[in-house]
Amino acid sequence: MAAQCRGQKRDGSRCSATVNGPSPWCWLHDPENAVRRREIASKAGRSDGGHRREIQSVKGQLRGIADSVVAGDLDPKAATAGVQALNAVLRAVALDREIGAAVALDERLRAVEALEKESRKWAG
Ligand SMILES: [Zn+2]
Repeated sequence: MAAQCRGQKRDGSRCSATVNGPSPWCWLHDPENAVRRREIASKAGRSDGGHRREIQSVKGQLRGIADSVVAGDLDPKAATAGVQALNAVLRAVALDREIGAAVALDERLRAVEALEKESRKWAG
């Protein structure tokens, strides 16, 4: 017999997922899955923070190059080469970020699929 999940949403309202199995919680609220959910969440957080730091670092280096060229401390040719190299780094960071986002999305999809599979199993 189907029952409503005992969990609460972030806004404090009752989770609307139905559960049919021995657990009174859906996949997202089941304490059994807490470790797995934390892993997914921390993976997403890590990749974001790392990329932001890298971009900040590149921006700092670009500013340094610009200042040096203006002050006459750096040959414009060397500056161009440096800027090109930093652009390549930015492109690599952007690509890495896209891949990280795709992996995180895939993890979430797997979680939803696992939930669906479980509820189908219990429904039978
Ligand atoms: Zn729930």
